[in-house]
Amino acid sequence: MYNPSSLKAEEFINHEEIIETLAYADANKDNLELIDSILEKAKERKGLNHREASVLLACDNKEKIEEMYALAQQIKQDFYGNRIVMFAPLYLSNYCINGCVYCPYHISNKHIARKKLTQEEIKREVIALQDMGHKRLALEAGEDPKNNPIEYILECIKTIYSIKHKNGAIRRVNVNIAATTVEEYRMLKEAGIGTYILFQETYHKESYEKLHPYGPKSNYAYHTEAMDRAMEGGIDDVGLGVLFGLEMYRYEFAGLLMHAEHLEAAHGVGPHTISVPRIKRADDIDPTAFDNGIDDETFAKICALIRICVPYTGMIISTRESQAVREKVLKLGVSQISGASRTSVGGYCDEEPEEENSEQFDVSDKRTLDEVVKWLMEMGCIPSFCTACYREGRTGDRFMSLCKSGQIQNCCQPNALMTLKEYLMDYASEDTKKIGEALIQAELENIPKEKVKEICKENLAKIEQGIRDFRF
Ligand code: SF4
Ligand code: SF4
Repeated sequence: MYNPSSLKAEEFINHEEIIETLAYADANKDNLELIDSILEKAKERKGLNHREASVLLACDNKEKIEEMYALAQQIKQDFYGNRIVMFAPLYLSNYCINGCVYCPYHISNKHIARKKLTQEEIKREVIALQDMGHKRLALEAGEDPKNNPIEYILECIKTIYSIKHKNGAIRRVNVNIAATTVEEYRMLKEAGIGTYILFQETYHKESYEKLHPYGPKSNYAYHTEAMDRAMEGGIDDVGLGVLFGLEMYRYEFAGLLMHAEHLEAAHGVGPHTISVPRIKRADDIDPTAFDNGIDDETFAKICALIRICVPYTGMIISTRESQAVREKVLKLGVSQISGASRTSVGGYCDEEPEEENSEQFDVSDKRTLDEVVKWLMEMGCIPSFCTACYREGRTGDRFMSLCKSGQIQNCCQPNALMTLKEYLMDYASEDTKKIGEALIQAELENIPKEKVKEICKENLAKIEQGIRDFRF
């Protein structure tokens, strides 16, 4: 029985409900009256439920799709302005005891190089990341209680936060590790993590079990209920995601929104972020072996609809996607992107020799961070290195209520400008710096509150003098 506030996976991600939702969407995909009424509701910017969203996804009327895109762009502009938050992944270890058939780290891959960073190697990686200008990381590690126990992850977090190289600092560490216990989530919370990210991969239980034939991750319910345990452990910023290409995208899309509705119903706070990875080529993984791949147009539509359906949830896109695809979806709602990512263990310091490949997937966007920052600014976006919210205790429902009232804008815009200024002073090339300085001057005018604008101007001057880390 479908019940969004239940804590049982099969009740809040209910297969029958998804099947009925898809049938309802098929039956109504040409019902323009209903589609118009859903779009009207979406304009209130309070989101849509999985049934309404699925009707929009099924609709193939060109004019209505254009309306969806226009609305997504407008919502993006209203909630996030032209700011794009930057981050980088950091791979700690690719030891893994799971059998995920879409990931080259699966335990039966005997020829991939297995690596685990020592604390000394982490220092070098973090210094390399700081020297690029990164302030926000997403930690990645395979599941392996012997090689990567929670104590190792906690030690890594401590090391990362402790490194202050020149003007560099990692100010927010998000963590993407396997589903675990309430107790271990509590430890992660105490270690000062930002968001806990865990991709569901697929919400379709039967496919999930085939795609995860062995290892602890093969337990669908344990994996799907992970966010509830994370919340119980005190982590109130959680990040959802599916791996598009594994199952029918319409099923995943409905499941993803049901998961978001569940978090809201059961814990009073929806997901902090949603990631939208698509399956990519990697070591012994051929993406064409999965027959549910989605084209760029469908991908863009999914991104636009996520923006419309959960306006307050950040949307993340990685370097799995090419520059062209990233350009398109940035306008439609993506609010966070990675830059200059390496998806191998230890990849920021050392270029890996071919025979030592430890990459999780092929990166499509291989530009440097400076190139990505410049590209964003040339498109009129403000690259933001802001990490302020969790450091100011703005997490969970407190964060969400500031988002919903629009007050967060008073923090995001000045924080984006101040952190961009730091980047320009410490890491940018001359060309990037020139574009950035002009952008900051122009964007100061878009800070809504006069008082905040004045403080921001004073802080920008102090950054010029060498002082760092201002935030609202
Ligand atoms: S997806 Fe994660 S759990 Fe699965 S094999 Fe890869 S690293 Fe291991
Ligand atoms: S102020 Fe908060 S919501 Fe805005 S960019 Fe910074 S961390 Fe994100």
